[in-house]
Amino acid sequence: MGQFEETTPETPALEIRERAMVEGILEGSPDGVGVVVVRLDCGCRKMAAVDENGDPASKIIMYRDGAETICDTCKDDQGSYLRVTQQFIHWREPEPPAKQQQRIAAKVMGTGTTTTH
Ligand SMILES: [Zn+2]
Repeated sequence: MGQFEETTPETPALEIRERAMVEGILEGSPDGVGVVVVRLDCGCRKMAAVDENGDPASKIIMYRDGAETICDTCKDDQGSYLRVTQQFIHWREPEPPAKQQQRIAAKVMGTGTTTTH
């Protein structure tokens, strides 16, 4: 351990409220190795824990900063992929090995984040 075999893609920093949500989700999901954080163009957030196989380890949670409910658009489309502005996984400490992180990320988010040409 303590050796970096590969560079992990940089993970955006969590906003304060996101961090609180992520910690709550991880607390309620003992199998979760991380939380998928999806930021939508309307300002709502979608999150769900994933286990070591990249399978869902919690229910999908949606919320909107400073609001009691998510916006009407999200109520209609449940936070469509088309409106995702940013998507990343926040790993539980200690983070899984880079290879495992990549495998989970590929399963959860597909290969859409990689540009092929
Ligand atoms: Zn929304």
